[in-house]
Amino acid sequence: MTAPLPPPAAGPDDDQAQQIAFGRCVLALSRTMRTAPLGWGLVAWAAWGRVPQANLLAWLALAATGWLISLGLLALIRREGMNLARHQHWLQAAAAIDGAWWGAVIALLAGNDAALNAFLGAVLCGVAAVNAPVYVTRIHVFYALCAALWLTALTGLLRLPGRAMLDIALGLAVFLGLLCYFMHGVATRVVEGIRLQLANAALTVQLSEALAAMEHQAATDALTGLPNRRSLDQALAAQLALARREGRPLSLLMLDLDRFKAVNDTHGHGVGDAVLRAFAQRVQAQLRPSDVCARYGGEEFVVLLSGTKELLAVDAADRLRRAVADGPLVPGVAITVSVGLATWRDEDAAALLARADAALYAAKRGGRNRVIAG
Ligand code: GH3
Ligand code: MG
Ligand code: MG
Repeated sequence: MTAPLPPPAAGPDDDQAQQIAFGRCVLALSRTMRTAPLGWGLVAWAAWGRVPQANLLAWLALAATGWLISLGLLALIRREGMNLARHQHWLQAAAAIDGAWWGAVIALLAGNDAALNAFLGAVLCGVAAVNAPVYVTRIHVFYALCAALWLTALTGLLRLPGRAMLDIALGLAVFLGLLCYFMHGVATRVVEGIRLQLANAALTVQLSEALAAMEHQAATDALTGLPNRRSLDQALAAQLALARREGRPLSLLMLDLDRFKAVNDTHGHGVGDAVLRAFAQRVQAQLRPSDVCARYGGEEFVVLLSGTKELLAVDAADRLRRAVADGPLVPGVAITVSVGLATWRDEDAAALLARADAALYAAKRGGRNRVIAG
């Protein structure tokens, strides 16, 4: 058998969980308060003709006053945003007032009739039982309600002769004690559940952020920040599908820096890297957002010109070539680029890339710093 897992350590989630638990309690209590007049009706019906009319009216007036005060407190708490730190004592007060006017039912109505005494004791147990789940997310407030209810009832009970007082006081104490004891366990689990929900939500956000970062990394070339070969393959497949389905033209440029090895040899690898980064930026600055520029490998790059026929693609390629040759990519390092161009002709990705590569080879052989369409 495996040992039960220890509860996770309290952290910032804990404050948030307590805040949510508090809000839920305020809302649950606000709903339950509306049913209180039902309880008054029950008591009035049972006490009618058994107790002096003045006592019954006094209790009803007390109950209505306490009820209105509690409702007012709850309305204020809700209007001000149900803040745990600021409002927890208000909630406690509302619960204690609630308990006190219920407890006063004994002070004002018990002692006249044995059956009514028992009935009132049962009503108080019922009131506590109905309220227990209302406070399950803020169980300490329920203890305040029970204490106020029992103590107020006790002040009335002290007037009763002998056994009657003892029976009701003891019965209520045992019932309330058990209720508080068992509700404590339930309440702990409910609040823990809220905390776990929050922790799960935070984990889900963290995971999806980590996943997005990993997906970005897996698709990006670390040196230039351009899409890498993998994402080029995906983009090319998507563009080819579009070309096939909708007859949309597609041109592919393969670019290779001229005599780049000499840059490394003369200025060092660090400068070579800087040249590659600057080259990527300069090329991208010339492209439309719908075009894709990817690092194909080493000092070779591929550009997908979507929706572009050969004539326009030659223009675009030459614009790129001139932009690179226009001025040094990094201070003191001038470089040129050769471009092989292939416009799609109902072929697959490998064939299209091979034609662009052959055109690039021709551009190199032709003297470099030029565009050749294959
Ligand atoms: P050509 O005009 O025929 O293309 O000549 P080239 O010198 O550019 O071609 P070659 O294939 O002989 O050399 C390519 C060089 O690019 C060699 C390699 O060290 C360098 N290179 C490839 N990747 C990187 C990189 O990430 N950083 C740096 N600094 N250099 C790289
Ligand atoms: Mg080269
Ligand atoms: Mg090369």
